[in-house]
Amino acid sequence: MGAAEIISFEEVRARKQWDTLRQQLHERFDLWLDTLEQQWHEPPATFTEVTTTVWDLRQQLTGGLTETIVAHVSRGEHDRTQAHCPRCAGVLKAGEVVCRTVETLVGPVQLERPYFYCRSCRFGHYPFDAAVGVVPGCKQLDMQQAVAKLVTEVPYDTAQSLFHDLTGVPFGSERMHTVTNQVAENLTVLDVAPSREEIERRIAEVAVNRFRRPVLVLGIDGAYVPTRPASARGRRPGHGRHRAKRALWRGQWRDAKGFRFYLLDGERIVHVLSWHQVQNEEQLGEALKQIKEAGLIPEEQVRLCVVCDGAEWIWKHVQALFPQARQVLDYYHCAQYLHRVAKAHYGASVQAVEWVEATMTRLYLGKVGLVLGGLRRMQAQSDEAEKAIANCWAYLNEHRGRTHYRHLRRGGYPLGSGGIESSNKFICHVRLKRSGALWYEANSDHMLALRCAKYNGTLDQVFVRYQQRLREMSE
Ligand SMILES: [Zn+2]
Repeated sequence: MGAAEIISFEEVRARKQWDTLRQQLHERFDLWLDTLEQQWHEPPATFTEVTTTVWDLRQQLTGGLTETIVAHVSRGEHDRTQAHCPRCAGVLKAGEVVCRTVETLVGPVQLERPYFYCRSCRFGHYPFDAAVGVVPGCKQLDMQQAVAKLVTEVPYDTAQSLFHDLTGVPFGSERMHTVTNQVAENLTVLDVAPSREEIERRIAEVAVNRFRRPVLVLGIDGAYVPTRPASARGRRPGHGRHRAKRALWRGQWRDAKGFRFYLLDGERIVHVLSWHQVQNEEQLGEALKQIKEAGLIPEEQVRLCVVCDGAEWIWKHVQALFPQARQVLDYYHCAQYLHRVAKAHYGASVQAVEWVEATMTRLYLGKVGLVLGGLRRMQAQSDEAEKAIANCWAYLNEHRGRTHYRHLRRGGYPLGSGGIESSNKFICHVRLKRSGALWYEANSDHMLALRCAKYNGTLDQVFVRYQQRLREMSE
């Protein structure tokens, strides 16, 4: 009947393989049905009874099916008779087949693989493990990834009980700590940053139907994170032979500095990239420089704008790395200076409130010159007032080029640094500032890096990197 009846040899072989596997899977399923039958002496009465039983037994089924499939597809590795020694490259003969059970989200999976031992190097290994991609330790990557996602949201103890409730698999909180720190070890800003293509995609989305390039805001700011010194390790109060009367160390608040790039889409903020660490100004500048040098920010496709509260070190970095960026002094931060003047000069009075409102309005209209003149003409009645006025004047005068709020508004630029303040909140505070929580600095940096990755949309990319590192370590 023509060409349709001709089936290639490859196809026949492929089908046969599939038939064999299918047969094996059916046998597995039958085994599982036996277990199910034992559980149910009589038919279940309620829907919940059915779901509960299937839930309790599901990992026997899914783990078993996984086991069968893995054994089938990795038969070559299982039957391997020769391998090279990774150290001396000598040819080794397969030794005994060794069983290993690993834990996964679909249940425990048993693996059978040959052991190869080099007498001259006194080194043994399982080429099967590397070929299939199982990692050292019981808990496999799918579990570790789920843990990393969970602990970036909730405290470790909560994560432990949630993990068990939702997956049916135990995972201790101490082990969760270890996994988190391993996944986040040595992460840099470039590891958690989205690619240039991804950033361009987000920009293009905002740019649709607009005749002006979108405004990309860079906000820089600090947040405080409760930390404890490394010397506190192993000295938790109440541990050890003697109950400690008080902690031998004091928790301290450290400055987590960070920056955030985000797009303005009308009233909406489109997140692009965040990086927060317990770091000093130089380290923050270095991270910004890496972003710049990696060419991640398509400066020609946006109108870049930097908004912050006026700290000198911030402008220094901005001027050096993004000299074209529009600089904005946080409008709301100005209000703090004006309030201080009003309080010192007018006291707690209606007049004080009115003066602040009128002055803020002038600033809003871009009349910083008038505000400066007004401050200069104020007759200070006290030392305190004189100081507050002088401070305020110096502040506004220094940044007057960054206070063209009228023009800025027309251009669609932001007047305040709300975008970075909210990322301080959702990246740092939400997870790190919990009552009773004190973080070792390294651990808090690990957690911050993972939370940045989460919001930058790069947690999966961080995990790919972790997998590569595990592979390199086991080689
Ligand atoms: Zn060897």
